[in-house]
Amino acid sequence: MDQIRIRGLRVYAGHGVFEEERKLGQSFFVDAVLDTRLREAGEKDDLKLSTDYGAVCERITQVMTEENCRLIEAAAERTARELLLSFPAVESLELTIHKPQAPIPLPFEDVAVCIRRGWHTAYVALGSNLGDREAFLKLGVDGVNAHPLCRVEETAPVYATTPYGGVEQGEFLNTVMRVRTLLEPEPLLDLLQSLEQKAGRERKVHWGPRTLDLDLLFYEDRILTTPRLIVPHPDMENRDFVLKPLCDIAPGLVHPVSRRPVITLLRKLEKDGEVHVEAGVKSV
Ligand code: ADP
Ligand code: MG
Repeated sequence: MDQIRIRGLRVYAGHGVFEEERKLGQSFFVDAVLDTRLREAGEKDDLKLSTDYGAVCERITQVMTEENCRLIEAAAERTARELLLSFPAVESLELTIHKPQAPIPLPFEDVAVCIRRGWHTAYVALGSNLGDREAFLKLGVDGVNAHPLCRVEETAPVYATTPYGGVEQGEFLNTVMRVRTLLEPEPLLDLLQSLEQKAGRERKVHWGPRTLDLDLLFYEDRILTTPRLIVPHPDMENRDFVLKPLCDIAPGLVHPVSRRPVITLLRKLEKDGEVHVEAGVKSV
C-alpha cells in the first residue's frame, strides 16, 4: 500500500518513570509511517482525498502532550490508536517514539520504541430465537457499533431459519455483519459476550434457544485456537444460515483453512447438505 512518512517530529513532553521527567519534560522525536491509498488524491491533485500530514503532526503533538505516561510504550499505544481513529483513510501505521535524553547513565545515541497497529476486518454472525428477536439482533449490531474501537461497516439481510443441532425450539432470525475494529480477537469476543449478557442470554442447553448469539466467524485470515476462541468459527461449512448472509456481503471471502471462497462452501451445502434458511426477512 502507499504510504505517508513523517520523520523526526519533535514533541516536548513529560513521559517517564521518574518524577523529574514528568515535571521538567524533554524532547521526543516521532516517526510515523501511515499506510493509506494515495492514487486518487494524486490523480485529482486534491488534498481532501488524502490525509493531511500537517493535521497528523498536530494530532501527534496533542496526544503526546495531553497526558503523561510512564512508558514510551504507553505513549506510542495511545498515539497510534488516536491517529487511526482520527484519520480513517489510514489502514495501518508504524509509529516510532525516540527518547534520546532518556535517563540512562551510559553514553548512548538514542532509544526508541516502534509499534505497528491497524484496523482489522472481522465477520460476526448474529442469531436469535427467543423474545423480540429483531430487537436483539439490533442490540448486537448497535452494541458493536457503539464501541469506540469498532465500526459496523455492513450488515446482511436477516433470514428466518429453522433450528440446527437437533434441539426442539423456535425459529431463528440470522444475519452477519462486517466489523472494522482495532480490537484483537479475544477483546472482540469479550465485547460479543458482554452483549449476549446484556440481551439476557442464559447458557442452559448447548445449541438451545437464545435471545442473542454472537459468533466470531473470521478475523482477517487468522487461524486461532485458544481455550476460548476458535477462528474461523468451526462448523461454518455446515450452516447455511451463516453462509447465506455471509455470502450476501462477502461472497469472495476465502476460508483460510480450506482455502475455498465462502460462496463455494454455500453452493456445496445447498447441493448436498441440510437446508435451514426459509426466507429473507428484512435488514436489521
Ligand atoms: P454456540 O455458538 O456454538 O451455540 P455458545 O454461543 O454457547 O455456543 O458458545 C460457546 C463457547 O464457544 C463460548 O464460551 C466461546 O468461548 C466459544 N467460542 C469458541 N470459538 C468461538 C467463536 N469463534 N465465536 C464465538 N464463541 C466462540
Ligand atoms: Mg455462540
